[in-house]
Amino acid sequence: MQVSIACTEQNLRSRSSEDRLCGPRPGPGGGNGGPVGGGHGNPPGGGGSGPKARAALVPRPPAPPGALRESTGRGTGMKYRNLGKSGLRVSCLGLGTWVTFGSQISDETAEDVLTVAYEHGVNLFDTAEVYAAGNAERTLGNILKSKGWRRSSYVITTKIFWGGQAETERGLSRKHIIEGLQGSLGRLQLGYVDIVFANRSDPNSPMEEIVRAMTYVINQGLALYWGTSRWGAAEIMEAYSVARQFNLIPPVCEQADHHLFQREKAEMQLPELYHKIGVGSVTWSPLACGLITSKYDGRAPDTCRTTIKGYQWLKDKVQSEGGRKQQQAKVMDLLPIAHQLGCTVAQLAIAWCLRSEGVSSVLLGVSSAEQLMEHLGALQVLSQLTPQTVMEIDGLLGNKPHSKK
Ligand code: NAP
Repeated sequence: MQVSIACTEQNLRSRSSEDRLCGPRPGPGGGNGGPVGGGHGNPPGGGGSGPKARAALVPRPPAPPGALRESTGRGTGMKYRNLGKSGLRVSCLGLGTWVTFGSQISDETAEDVLTVAYEHGVNLFDTAEVYAAGNAERTLGNILKSKGWRRSSYVITTKIFWGGQAETERGLSRKHIIEGLQGSLGRLQLGYVDIVFANRSDPNSPMEEIVRAMTYVINQGLALYWGTSRWGAAEIMEAYSVARQFNLIPPVCEQADHHLFQREKAEMQLPELYHKIGVGSVTWSPLACGLITSKYDGRAPDTCRTTIKGYQWLKDKVQSEGGRKQQQAKVMDLLPIAHQLGCTVAQLAIAWCLRSEGVSSVLLGVSSAEQLMEHLGALQVLSQLTPQTVMEIDGLLGNKPHSKK
């Protein structure tokens, strides 16, 4: 039997007492929760009959109506949210590996960054088969292996679409989804990833084939959930409908870019999907690749993303008329608000992303542990971000306030 993972709030509430009384559910993908491969990364087995399993039979009070609950990590202050309306609890700040791991930063710095993140309660780490041509996954996998953290204590996500040069190594065919994910698992040295994302939509692959392949990798134990990245709302809805029609597994979340200058999709389209079909959002580039940090005052510093080979487009953006006059000037306008709150512009920008409805986690990018420490301070800023401050920011940016929160 296949298990539908994304569900409506109503389903979640109605299942709260019944399912728990039915005892432990089967492992991922139904059946026996079948792990694949060995090593430190196999999914936990299903069932169990010890005291812990018996404790799970005690009914908990039903969740209050409305939003799923956020919790706070003891000792770290990290906030945890549900991934969409699935049961997976992810830290509201996640760490990404694009540009940095296996490329811009040394392996030692990557290890520092990952260690600081984990020790401060970050449990979501994002990568992709295409990042640094597979080296981001290799670096992440090596660090995880050397750290020996419990596999059950963190969430690894990877994205499949660009795996290699051959025509068959790209896109979302059944072949590339399965082979691409197997390749990622090899580089990560893991038995499974928690979430596999379709890194783009693929007009060359039929939706039913994509959803069936995602369901297959979940049923094989290679992934526990699947999501989309940079898909349109209509495409996500189609994937959901196909899953419902054929009793397959629907996506649980969408990865979307969201920052002060990029609001439309995350604020206007995704909240509706969240409410209707339980698809949440994991958002990325909260600092617009570092532009929202006040370090680009019309020119690029010597060591930063804009100076990396292949990122000339970012440098051009910073130095363009629009970049300088509009975005950079607006970032400078935010400084007084940041000063008033006693924070940096980067912290303000990240807190601003965290307040959006349906956002499960905001993926951070950092080139040093110091940057990460700064970003973790955004959690404190979030608690100070009043609707008035948000309106003030909207006014300064000349943006219409989209979010309901
Ligand atoms: P970002 O927050 O917009 O940019 C991060 C970069 O900004 C850092 O690498 C750093 O670069 C600079 N920076 C960060 N903090 C700073 C600070 N306090 N002061 C000055 N500069 C600072 O995030 P992103 O790296 O673009 O994206 C984050 C993650 O989202 C990625 O790693 C990836 O996992 C995910 N993502 C997903 C997609 C997708 O298609 N699904 C696309 C893009 C990203 P420098 O120090 O080098 O300037």
